[in-house]
Amino acid sequence: MSLNPEEISKLIQDQIKRYDEELEIDETGTIITIGDGISLIHGLRNAMAGELLSFPGDVYGMVMNLEEEHVGAVLMGESRGIKEGDEVKRTGRIVEVAVGDCMLGRVVNALGQAIDGGAEIKSDKYRPVERVAPGVMTRKSVHQPLQTGLKVIDSMIPIGRGQRELIIGDRQTGKTAIAIDTIINQKGNGIKCIYVAIGQKASTVAQIVEKLRAHDALSYTTIVSATASEAAPLQYLAPYTGCAIGEEWMENGDDVLIVYDDLSKHAVAYRTMSLLLKRPPGREAYPGDVFYLHSRLLERAAKLNDELGGGSLTALPIIETQAGDISAYIPTNVISITDGQIFLQTELFNAGVRPAVDSGLSVSRVGSAAQIKAMKQVSGSLKLELAQFREMQAFAKFGSDLDAATTETLRHGERLTKLLIQNQYDPMPVTHQVLSLYAAKHKYLKKVKVEDVGKYERLMLQYMEEHHQDIITAIYEQGALDEALETKLNECLDAFALQYESVLEG
Ligand code: ATP
Ligand code: MG
Repeated sequence: MSLNPEEISKLIQDQIKRYDEELEIDETGTIITIGDGISLIHGLRNAMAGELLSFPGDVYGMVMNLEEEHVGAVLMGESRGIKEGDEVKRTGRIVEVAVGDCMLGRVVNALGQAIDGGAEIKSDKYRPVERVAPGVMTRKSVHQPLQTGLKVIDSMIPIGRGQRELIIGDRQTGKTAIAIDTIINQKGNGIKCIYVAIGQKASTVAQIVEKLRAHDALSYTTIVSATASEAAPLQYLAPYTGCAIGEEWMENGDDVLIVYDDLSKHAVAYRTMSLLLKRPPGREAYPGDVFYLHSRLLERAAKLNDELGGGSLTALPIIETQAGDISAYIPTNVISITDGQIFLQTELFNAGVRPAVDSGLSVSRVGSAAQIKAMKQVSGSLKLELAQFREMQAFAKFGSDLDAATTETLRHGERLTKLLIQNQYDPMPVTHQVLSLYAAKHKYLKKVKVEDVGKYERLMLQYMEEHHQDIITAIYEQGALDEALETKLNECLDAFALQYESVLEG
């Protein structure tokens, strides 16, 4: 920090003029420079890192840099009208946000203030947005499922409560769609949801809110929004704000799901802030602590042990890649912090395979411990079968003479791929997923035309709901398929096959 002589003499003059106020220098400061949402302030000797500062005109700022002679702060609002020499006051408060059930069904900004046109949010409880993550001893291993309602994910990349699963892919590959479907799928099961929109268009966020409302999912969801037009510090703060809201519920023993959409834009906002604060740039111009930026956020996702109420916070961070490059700086960082990733591919998306999940590159490192047994039974070999199918597919492009086994693998793979396609806003209960995958596993799709797989599935599930609700209930209650149940299921599926001959190839 260098000051030119003019500034120094002006400061000295000011100091002499305000000698009487000298005692106040600990609590107040004078703006040296202001611009681009950043301000350097002389004084404020007692300021704390992360403290809220009060600027003229009801604008708040947050302390980022504490240096010997001055304090660097970011502004969380319009800096127009604020000028050099203006006075800044300490508030003595760390940035905090209102928490509790009053947040359900609301759309708030990064400071937790309502922006949905509804009543002002009043809570008797506030929490600092930044907090140290729960320690090792306070946690329990992940053991309950968090159903996304998407067959391709719940079967092969299962997510458990308290897990951190990254959704990664290029732009427009259905990343947000997966997160929103997962939120919609939590209807009626008591899981509270938070959707944090970072650096998105305000119109996109408005559409998401409308979709959630239309699917009755807003009543158990909070939306934290810092749109692209908002100052970088607000975009930086939004995920921590969302996390603080979720933590409060988790500590009360609730299960919570939080989506960060997306952390690439979060990293960019942080880079902007850091460069303006003159912190040294590193790789790709990100500051050196950009790993810590995301690790301290994602570490706060946890499954608490029973003494602490057994609540959980499941995080679904989203990362946008450029041309499928998962080895860039921010993607590798976040991959290494999370417990697995759902990788989405543009080619699959364009080929109509939606959700465009690449089952080969996607993993879930802890979720299978949480999968229900029935699902394990029907999906155990799915990943392998799809991998074999892809390999054969590449191979079959060259040769014409294929042996019977290869043809069989190809036919099966094509039908499986079709079966895993699922519409947006149409999550499926786990019992129905088990039925569909059971039919595939036991070769009931063999005779169905590839283009009719979706129709077969729909009619089959309808048939089961109408005539064999008892079996669906049994799967739900037992959570596993035993021999008796399998025999019954086979009978049903045989009967269905006869009844719907028209759907099948001759
Ligand atoms: P962005 O990079 O812009 O954030 P994204 O990766 O989040 O995009 P989405 O916005 O979720 O992608 O989806 C892109 C488009 O694909 C949307 O128009 C959405 O309606 C459509 N889409 C997503 N999933 C499906 C699906 N399963 N079936 C049909 N259409 C889908
Ligand atoms: Mg999106």
